[in-house]
Amino acid sequence: MIIGIDLGTTNSLAGVYRDGGAELIPNSLGEYLTPSVVSFEGSGEVVVGAVARERLVTNPEVTAASFKRFMGSQKVYCLAGREFTPQELSAFVLRQLKQDAERYLGEEVTEAVISVPAYFNNHQRAATLEAGKLAGIHVERLVNEPSAAALASSMMSEEEEQVYLVFDFGGGTLDVSVVDYFNNVIEIVAVSGDNHLGGNDFDAKIAQHFCASHNIEMEQLPPQKQATLRRLAEKAKRELSEQETTFIHMDIEGEDKAVILNSEVLIKSCGALFDRMEKAVRHALRDSGYHVEDISEIILAGGSSKMPVVSYFLQNLLGKKPCTIGSPDEVIALGAGIYAGIKARKEEIRDMLLTDICPFTLGVGVYNPGGSQPNMSPLIERNSVLPISRTGVYTNVEDRQRQIDFKIYQGESFNCAENLCLGAVSIPIAPVGSGQASVNVTFSYDINGILVVDVEDNQSTNKKQVIFRSEGMNLSDKELARKVEELKKYRSDFEGDERDRLLLARGNRLYQELKGINRDRIMRVMREYEYAMSVNDKHAKLVMRQQITAMFDRFEEFLDEY
Ligand code: AMP
Repeated sequence: MIIGIDLGTTNSLAGVYRDGGAELIPNSLGEYLTPSVVSFEGSGEVVVGAVARERLVTNPEVTAASFKRFMGSQKVYCLAGREFTPQELSAFVLRQLKQDAERYLGEEVTEAVISVPAYFNNHQRAATLEAGKLAGIHVERLVNEPSAAALASSMMSEEEEQVYLVFDFGGGTLDVSVVDYFNNVIEIVAVSGDNHLGGNDFDAKIAQHFCASHNIEMEQLPPQKQATLRRLAEKAKRELSEQETTFIHMDIEGEDKAVILNSEVLIKSCGALFDRMEKAVRHALRDSGYHVEDISEIILAGGSSKMPVVSYFLQNLLGKKPCTIGSPDEVIALGAGIYAGIKARKEEIRDMLLTDICPFTLGVGVYNPGGSQPNMSPLIERNSVLPISRTGVYTNVEDRQRQIDFKIYQGESFNCAENLCLGAVSIPIAPVGSGQASVNVTFSYDINGILVVDVEDNQSTNKKQVIFRSEGMNLSDKELARKVEELKKYRSDFEGDERDRLLLARGNRLYQELKGINRDRIMRVMREYEYAMSVNDKHAKLVMRQQITAMFDRFEEFLDEY
């Protein structure tokens, strides 16, 4: 069985194509979103998802989140006496999604299509493939997130020809893509975005607005107060997605301070963020060669797209309402599920074709007569359709030079030092005068981020081929097998009811956050609940769970206010 996975920074989801349609796969709590959080328990057990998210507060030293940001980097996390790479932590999330899918589908899941941001570079793509392998899943293919979103939308419309603008707005990043759909072929024609713009910036601006309204310097507040204010700002922002007006109340040095929040205030205090959003949209449009009026559909993805002000902004800018099929959280996972169906060659959708683009430029460094740093000579330009192969011809710069060393770069600067160096290839040449030796350099690049570089001397039979898969992929089969066995030791096949586990983890966290009499109350209900668990009284558990959840919700509000 093959499934689609949206491996997200904050949350991950799985989708599948069956019985003629795409559907999301619920986890053991019956929810589609599984927080991308991993935590270790003393017993050698690994916990993934909502329970692990609670443990971010109670057991931060053995819990990790947001590791997708560091995929393909050298970062390591020291947890429970062992070092973990971001790909190993991601593997635990993938393994959990696989287990949940197997339970839900009643079949073994052996393969997956995983979505990645279009801007992911080679290292990050290779790291994602490695995470799949470590989780014991054959990753059939990576799919770019905007392609997946467009695929999901195209399945829900009758139109044969569409130009989509995918607006994927998360907690910390904005990705804008223009995607063509014509005759069952989906092609990303441009990607743009802002790696430092997301829901977190709205939270910060709302917090600043609160401070400015009361003549407070945010930086002067104690760190804990700053964190509480940001949390309240985020909560208020979410409330504005459901209602027209809300308030932020906070106790500042014994005084209750408040501000009113509505879309007008939000637009005013976050004006600069809208300007940056506009810049990203215009950039994507310009790169695509389309005009505003060519866009037939705007697809919203990512949690921050749920803000009504974002929809209004796009409607004003592009002259049409964004489409609202499904939740912005779910559209990418659904698309990945459909793509998994295409890979499994399901009758109804097998003719669908997805092409992808290279979101960055790939090239070689060439001699720069005017400066000390080499310049970039692009071979594969940003936004080229994949797979692609391009050849360039280069000559020697010095008389009687014995070899040419090509350094391979990825990035948009003409100055190589500012781009990512993927590695180097050298080829021997005959010692002739400068400009007389010529060498063909061919780059072949595919969606999985594998770059094949062929270098061929035109004066001799000298040839070289180097495959760049980045550091993440340099694990030998033996090393990989060893790592897979090692990760297997961390069991995650929890037999009990995940809802019990979540309730206890949440109680534990609230116990730590609260004080005095409230702690006693939590302790008492937790003991009663544990007793109901020990005698496996399902009815008592159900009733108590509802009551305790309501009580915990009230505590949560209390915490937010003080
Ligand atoms: P993602 O990375 O796609 O999960 O998006 C996370 C971001 O979405 C965070 O900044 C959240 O505050 C924001 N978010 C999630 N739900 C909502 C909502 N209902 N209204 C406004 N923002 C939301």
